[in-house]
Amino acid sequence: MKLINGKAVAEEIKNSLKQDVLSYTQKHKRPPHLAAVLVGSKPASLAYVGNKVKSCEQVGFKSTLVKLNEDVTEAQLLAEIKKLNEDPDVDGFIVQLPLPAHIDEVKVMLAIDHKKDVDGFHPINFGRMAQGLPCYLPATPYGIVLLLERYNIQVAGAHVVVVGRSNIVGTPLSILLSRKSPLGDATVTLTHSRTKELSKITNTADIIIAAIGIPNFITEDMVRNNVVIIDVGINRVESDNQNTKAKLVGDVDFDAVAEKCSHITPVPGGVGPMTVVALLLNTFKAANKEIYG
Ligand code: NAD
Repeated sequence: MKLINGKAVAEEIKNSLKQDVLSYTQKHKRPPHLAAVLVGSKPASLAYVGNKVKSCEQVGFKSTLVKLNEDVTEAQLLAEIKKLNEDPDVDGFIVQLPLPAHIDEVKVMLAIDHKKDVDGFHPINFGRMAQGLPCYLPATPYGIVLLLERYNIQVAGAHVVVVGRSNIVGTPLSILLSRKSPLGDATVTLTHSRTKELSKITNTADIIIAAIGIPNFITEDMVRNNVVIIDVGINRVESDNQNTKAKLVGDVDFDAVAEKCSHITPVPGGVGPMTVVALLLNTFKAANKEIYG
């Protein structure tokens, strides 16, 4: 079994990006600039945004964090987005999800200028991805394909089973991997909560990508020998013991499954750091006007 070390690959990519950012900054007399909008103070969202800001500093980007109170109105949030859309100094920005229930996430996503949508969530970027046109790839799927590439995992012709059909992970990943392209050419089965006999399907997979959000959902009996497993899940499991901290676990029962795998990502240290790197790469493309001119 080989552990796929997303943290190490992310560091390598950041180190190489740092050199390119240096040249960019010298040439343009300003660094690339990523902004993040954070509504409220959910610990998980704070941690994700904190990681993104830290990574920006690491590679030499400018970063701006727009912090809004939990009770911000939808109109106020949309006004902040308009400001970021119109600010020529901001190359790309993200709105950290989830948003409070009184705010319509779709409305917010549609308000982001697709040219600055470095999370790759806007339907224009999604549609362009589906048709193989230049676009910002959604950050987590982009990070995963980079990871598969780094570990020379044969995707072309493989049977990939994606578990979970969210708009930000499962669905775009299934499209990306099945596309006729150097990162694709797989035969993909997209499974979800209504899929019958999931275990029979996962047992035919060469590669399983788990993006469900249920701790330890993929068990040993669901996978065959020599499978590659990419565990996207990040689940906080509280400890029974008051003195022990909560633990982060994936969607895969790592301890039981790992020995059967040819490759597997750990949680933490697998997909998470690659999502941040993908966001940085998209922002650098935005600063260079590589996609939309
Ligand atoms: P989501 O929470 O929006 O949706 C979950 C998906 O799982 C749904 O499509 C649903 O159909 C499927 N599902 C639920 N129960 C199922 C079942 N019994 N059998 C089969 N499928 C089932 O998904 P998401 O936003 O993609 O998040 C999934 C997990 O990935 C979460 O733990 C999230 O925190 C994590 N995540 C991690 C990263 C990262 O960078 N590592 C990025 C995004 C999400």
